[in-house]
Amino acid sequence: MSVGIEQPYVYRHRELVEPDWTRFPGWRTVTAEDWASAQWQRAHCVKNVKQLHEVMGDLLDDHFYADLERDQAERATMSMLLPPQMVNTMVSEGTWPGAGMPGVGEEFTRAFYADPVRRYMLPVFSDRRTDWPSHPHATRDSLHEHDMWVAEGLTHRYPTKVLAELLSTCPQYCGHCTRMDLVGNSTRVVDKLKLEGRPADRYAAMLAYLHQTPQVRDVVVSGGDVANVPWHNLEAFLDRLLDVESVRDIRLATKALMGLPQHWLQSDVVEGVARVAAKARSRGVSLAIHTHVNSAQSVTPLVARAARTMLEAGVRDVRNQGVLMRGVNDSTKQLLDLCFALQDDAMVTPYYFYMCDMIPFSEHWRLSLAEAQRLQHSIMGYLPGFATPRIVCDVPFVGKRWVHQVDHYDMELGMSFWRKNYRTQLEAADPASTEQALSRDYVYYDPIHTLAPEGQQWWREHGDEDSTHAEAVRRAAASREASLV
Ligand code: SF4
Repeated sequence: MSVGIEQPYVYRHRELVEPDWTRFPGWRTVTAEDWASAQWQRAHCVKNVKQLHEVMGDLLDDHFYADLERDQAERATMSMLLPPQMVNTMVSEGTWPGAGMPGVGEEFTRAFYADPVRRYMLPVFSDRRTDWPSHPHATRDSLHEHDMWVAEGLTHRYPTKVLAELLSTCPQYCGHCTRMDLVGNSTRVVDKLKLEGRPADRYAAMLAYLHQTPQVRDVVVSGGDVANVPWHNLEAFLDRLLDVESVRDIRLATKALMGLPQHWLQSDVVEGVARVAAKARSRGVSLAIHTHVNSAQSVTPLVARAARTMLEAGVRDVRNQGVLMRGVNDSTKQLLDLCFALQDDAMVTPYYFYMCDMIPFSEHWRLSLAEAQRLQHSIMGYLPGFATPRIVCDVPFVGKRWVHQVDHYDMELGMSFWRKNYRTQLEAADPASTEQALSRDYVYYDPIHTLAPEGQQWWREHGDEDSTHAEAVRRAAASREASLV
């Protein structure tokens, strides 16, 4: 192929750079030794507006703080928790529009507002939609994981896989967290559920279920984030999990690999991972780490070192499951830049991008199914096939479906209809539901503000849950009948 041919996306290898934290007034005197310490990072997390002010000094205009405070009071479903490592990737060197850092005050504030990492980790009131801040069908536990618990914190949704939520905290809290029902501290808007059992009892109940359920071969060990389980306890759990005869895949879910890479570089953690990986290998079990990176600027040399250290310790693969969000990674360039940053230098395999789930106050982040399908098409063919991420929709009551697997799509009302090929715990108790599970339609909804005026008008008139659900079922049946003619 001619070298000069014009392409929609131009690949260039990008050298990873650790942003200079001393550009922030509050961290001018922080040493490299402190920065590398997981303990220092945890102790200096930004947890409120006052602490953000202390770090930023006069870089940000006052109206930003007022915007943030209003969001905390009226919209935020997650409390604020930002390790310095994450804050340091906002308005970082590679993102500066000119030759130097944006100027103090108005210029820096504008860049901060526009920053992709800021947009999902530190949401402000003016980011959110005011016409439809939440979809009428948005719910707290939008994936109904809690409804499928077979032991406290153990979700059995797919036939051969389970999700084990060991705890409900993380070293960082993401504004769009799909587990906002359970994860993190209560906010002024959301009273969180609490795990009630003692950790030791809950872990024992999970392991007992797995011993009794040999059809489960794959366990996602998550939370929250496993980086918040004291290493000794996590290793003890994994050791016992590896004694379950039927288990063949174990995936550790940790956004901290990016948000707090210092945690995964601690010598006791690295040595512990090596012990668990060795036992996994000897038993023929694949041990992998799944992380959550949404923007190329989050991939720094420290993040790459943490990922490679895990591979050297014996983890079979480190994979990324990002979340597709407007203003964060909703362009072909942003997605491919991120995938290449992960794949080239960090040896992290781009694996999935999830469409943002239908939780309250997420409409400004969510994309329509049609937008997601276009993005999937646009990123094909640039990365190796094994590292080309699938964009998936986690359809309520169904599970992950590739965005092109939709059965019917009513673009006027923004309703997509999906089928599933397995039954879940939810149907088990009711013979009629068991019967219909594989033949009925399940609905996912586009953000209303992305619809044409007629569709938006329809939602203004029929915005209540019962009538829209009934209409969705009627439309799906009608379009299916039409397609059979
Ligand atoms: S790290 Fe994961 S579980 Fe924790 S807040 Fe972010 S999205 Fe939620």
